[in-house]
Amino acid sequence: MKKQNPAKTHRPPKTVPKNDHYQRLGFLYQAAAQLDPNGALSRMYLRNMDVVAKKTVLKLDPSLKRTICKKCHRLQLPGRTASIRIENTSNAKSAENDVLAVSCVCGTLKRYPIGRARDYVLFSDKNEVQDA
Ligand SMILES: [Zn+2]
Repeated sequence: MKKQNPAKTHRPPKTVPKNDHYQRLGFLYQAAAQLDPNGALSRMYLRNMDVVAKKTVLKLDPSLKRTICKKCHRLQLPGRTASIRIENTSNAKSAENDVLAVSCVCGTLKRYPIGRARDYVLFSDKNEVQDA
């Protein structure tokens, strides 16, 4: 039996699978960010990005995904196309029950519980720290 060098077996792949689709998603997002977020072209690019990601079964980064409205496909820019506030509807009014509410101009509301873990880091950001 042939012995394998352990350093050779754990090498990362030289090419990224579905790289052309990732490049297309990146281009669509950057092109949409350059345009007017209320414009039809910007919204069409972001809708196209969403469709391509679903069709090719690619996972968008949560930090990128949270900047796009699911209903109208607008880029969520605070003060322009989205308003952000911290809600607390609990009776105790403790800081643990704080909710970050992002409402789009189309009326869609996204709510993120931020009070429980103030120092919460997205899984995609955790991987970057481990690699560095
Ligand atoms: Zn919207």
